[in-house]
Amino acid sequence: MRIVLLGAPGAGKGTQAKKIVEKYGIPQISTGDILRQAVADGTPLGLEAKKYMDKGELVPDEVVIGLVKERLGQDDCKKGFILDGFPRNTSQAEVLDRVLGEMNMPLQLALSVDVDFDVLMKRLTGRRTCRQCGQMYNIYYNPPKKEGVCDKCGGELYQRDDDKEETIRKRLEVYQAQTAPLIEYYDRKGILKRVNGVGNIDEIFANICAILDTLK
Ligand code: AMP
Repeated sequence: MRIVLLGAPGAGKGTQAKKIVEKYGIPQISTGDILRQAVADGTPLGLEAKKYMDKGELVPDEVVIGLVKERLGQDDCKKGFILDGFPRNTSQAEVLDRVLGEMNMPLQLALSVDVDFDVLMKRLTGRRTCRQCGQMYNIYYNPPKKEGVCDKCGGELYQRDDDKEETIRKRLEVYQAQTAPLIEYYDRKGILKRVNGVGNIDEIFANICAILDTLK
């Protein structure tokens, strides 16, 4: 199963990708997670990437493309993969098609998770993460019992640097201008499917599974 997940920041791609990993046993390749790890590790690549991420801009193509190529070459991707957050623009999509073509494992599906702008804004500005255990909350949709404190471990909740309001607006603008055109790109190739990303997480996942189960 070789899949690209499309959708704006806050559409729930990461959440659904994790459920797909669990059920279908294929690895998730999230460029956002890989980059955040590099930032946390303080590697030269991470320090460079952080400049763009904090502003809500895309990290230069050559950086992310290199990371994805290396990851796709690892053994566990032979059984398939789910790309989450990559590609983010047409040139990344073209490189991806070429690389996967050379590896004889073309994409089978581009799945767009659709969510309206105002819901995205609340999901993103409301997001809080526990510093200690990583548990995620949303102050609008899924608040902790006590403000600012993790229900699970009592840790302090914080807002990701790129979840600040100004950065979020920029990320959504960048999505609209650079990433949304990929919906048409994959539609022209005949591999696009769409799901509604608003509602109960398990119901959305069931709709996704109905589509994935048609692939082999
Ligand atoms: P995400 O968690 O996917 O929303 O990614 C967080 C940030 O990482 C983005 O706002 C970008 O700065 C950067 N990033 C993630 N994936 C890519 C990509 N494919 N191309 C360029 N920048 C990316």
